[in-house]
Amino acid sequence: MLYQSYCAPDTIEEALTHLNRTDGARVRPIAGGTDLMVQLRERLVQTDMLVDVSSIPDLKRIWLDGHRLHLGAAATYTQLIESELVHQHAYLLAEAGRLIGGKQIQHMGTIGGNLANASPAGDTLPCLYALDADITIASLEGDRHVAMSEFMRGPRKTALRPHELITQISFDVVPEHAGSAFTKMGLRHSQAISVVDVAAVVGVLDGRIASVRVALGSVAPTIVRSPSVEQMLLRQAPSDDLLDRAAEATRHDIEPITDIRGSAAYRLYVAKPFVRQALDRALERASVSRAS
Ligand SMILES: Cc1cc2nc3c(=O)[nH]c(=O)nc-3n(C[C@H](O)[C@H](O)[C@H](O)COP(=O)(O)OP(=O)(O)OC[C@H]3O[C@@H](n4cnc5c(N)ncnc54)[C@H](O)[C@@H]3O)c2cc1C
Repeated sequence: MLYQSYCAPDTIEEALTHLNRTDGARVRPIAGGTDLMVQLRERLVQTDMLVDVSSIPDLKRIWLDGHRLHLGAAATYTQLIESELVHQHAYLLAEAGRLIGGKQIQHMGTIGGNLANASPAGDTLPCLYALDADITIASLEGDRHVAMSEFMRGPRKTALRPHELITQISFDVVPEHAGSAFTKMGLRHSQAISVVDVAAVVGVLDGRIASVRVALGSVAPTIVRSPSVEQMLLRQAPSDDLLDRAAEATRHDIEPITDIRGSAAYRLYVAKPFVRQALDRALERASVSRAS
């Protein structure tokens, strides 16, 4: 048996009560199960009880509150792809959702599951770095907030404590003068885990880059921001030459490893064109024309 008992609570409080059982039983939240069921079957993870959070209405909502967009942790990729709010205010997340797995995974997989699983190849993670997101974590003691940059501590390691639940992810909307993009390289066009993935949010005011955040996945033990790229672009007028030099600078900020999906040298090589593509698309979406 993969687990002894299962429950599907309707509220966050009820889920937290189950997660805080005091009889020594091992309890885990499950959302879409697209990572966890595989890990249970392969005996990488053991549990006695599963607390299914995928139908808790408060965890499924996507809402705008002033300039902050909030995503319930159990929002699925299909929800991200179909949400008007996501399209309008954080387009890169819809773009990432479309490139994750196939339709079945998009229907089941959740943003909270992607976060808690903390794979360096998790596709929403670079997006949440580039959006400078805040993660709300609930326990029976109350809520706490962790910045995305502090949440992932290493492969499969997070700031989550036992018995806690991610409830929502929030961030400032991408402003009107900015554009966002997500690009991904896998070993085939679809249904592929990232060899390199890149998220960018770029703002342009008066013809110069006024804000820029670039984050990469699958190129280090955690997601990394690229300060070399960001510093090179900031306050400059975008041009092909500048963007090319900035994309080249990515190599100073990444430490790829060799694994079954690609060698470290290959990852270093493909990071540049994918960063360039993400910057180009983000700038296009910020409606910036540039000198060649
Ligand atoms: C065929 C296939 C293709 C895939 N393709 C991709 C891909 O292209 N890109 C990609 O990034 N991933 C991919 N994945 C991995 C997976 O689909 C994603 O990571 C997905 O987002 C996991 O979400 P889930 O809801 O299914 O998580 P689950 O499997 O339910 O849970 C994953 C982990 O998160 C914990 N958890 C879940 N919800 C919460 C919560 N609210 N609070 C605290 N902990 C929680 C669980 O206890 C577990 O440890 C793929 C998986 C498969 C099987």
